[in-house]
Amino acid sequence: MILKFLACFLLVWVPCPAQKTRFDGFSVLRVVPTSEKQLLLSKQILENQNPLEVDVWRFPGGVDHSLDIQVSPKHFSKLNQTLTENGLQAHLLIRDVQTLISEQERLNKNVKETADLFNYGKYHTLDEVNSWIKNITEYYPNMTTALKVTQSYEGRTIQLLRISTGEGNSKPSFFIEGGIHSREWISPATVLFMAGQMLDRYSSDTRIKQLVDSFDWFILPVFNVDGYEYTWTKNRNWRKTRSKHGSCVGVDPNRNWDYEWCKEGASKEPCSDQYCGPSPFSEVEVKGVADFIMKNSKNIKGFIDFHSYSQLWMTPWGYTKQLPPDFKDQDKGSELAVKALQKVYGTKYNHGSIANVIYVASGSSADWTYGAAKIKYSYGVELRDTGKYGFLLPPDQIIPSGTETLEALIALANFVVNN
Ligand SMILES: [Zn+2]
Repeated sequence: MILKFLACFLLVWVPCPAQKTRFDGFSVLRVVPTSEKQLLLSKQILENQNPLEVDVWRFPGGVDHSLDIQVSPKHFSKLNQTLTENGLQAHLLIRDVQTLISEQERLNKNVKETADLFNYGKYHTLDEVNSWIKNITEYYPNMTTALKVTQSYEGRTIQLLRISTGEGNSKPSFFIEGGIHSREWISPATVLFMAGQMLDRYSSDTRIKQLVDSFDWFILPVFNVDGYEYTWTKNRNWRKTRSKHGSCVGVDPNRNWDYEWCKEGASKEPCSDQYCGPSPFSEVEVKGVADFIMKNSKNIKGFIDFHSYSQLWMTPWGYTKQLPPDFKDQDKGSELAVKALQKVYGTKYNHGSIANVIYVASGSSADWTYGAAKIKYSYGVELRDTGKYGFLLPPDQIIPSGTETLEALIALANFVVNN
């Protein structure tokens, strides 16, 4: 190994060991446009080939909606100057991204292993998640099945856990997915925790038993497996899939669904983080999950796609600010969910339609599951936090996030069963 490093440094023709991208001195700024003119200007800074190489952590939603942008030390002054010239006030959200990345890594390594099968209070690699699926199905053979959904672009298996206590096929199903955007680590972690609780507390907790018994559960902890692996090995900030498009890599898997595809709030530019792809369902991962949902859609009555961050419980539509005919019922579910969630630790979530609450986004999972697969109770949820750590939430927030989100799920599932 040392020889390989030396050869690499001496520029001998040996492939260099892959380095992890570092973000020393990168900061995250929050900007709140207060007029249509300012909103347009803030969008222009992010588009037009992105000369300042900013990474958008939260996209612009509208007047008085905040947008968060990560900028390198090299472009910091220029960005600040451009914002100031246009009357846009920026406020420093994160001073040094690398410090938070290193801290998250350090804390995660220090989480003590428990005597249990799996430590849910820790972020896990894709291999660890897949081992968990294998082990949990051996531990609870009567309630669980591991299902292969599809193969990713880079050849990894996308796996789903089915939890079912019923006989036959008469029961409605509920589909939960995490990790469609790979850098949003709290999403798979929260999904894993909730699935673990559903199994571990099934025989001792009547509320959990009722939750589990009311549906057949399809639980997909890591959707974007290639991207997720990449966030662990190469670049902690990676969001998209890993397919190749000219000189750029990846499609936004939450802009690639075949419903009102690539309209407002999606980009045709392959280098953009909101790239909708060359065609709807161009991404094998998205196509595979969509096919699975379509095949089972007659029975699927509830769907949640977990993201982070911003603390929002949202319903269709994403592609337009107009509300669908079922909005009142759908939003009632959100309202019950966020009330139950807040009761646990006081964490506040907002709710409403995606386009109105966060930003217009077309070709998203929840629009497709509702619009095409006809799953009335389709949700997109942005988990913790509101920007202090963003995607770099310390691991000690995993179990609190899971605990409060499980309460929200119980309330929502209960509502869906009765409606
Ligand atoms: Zn996301």
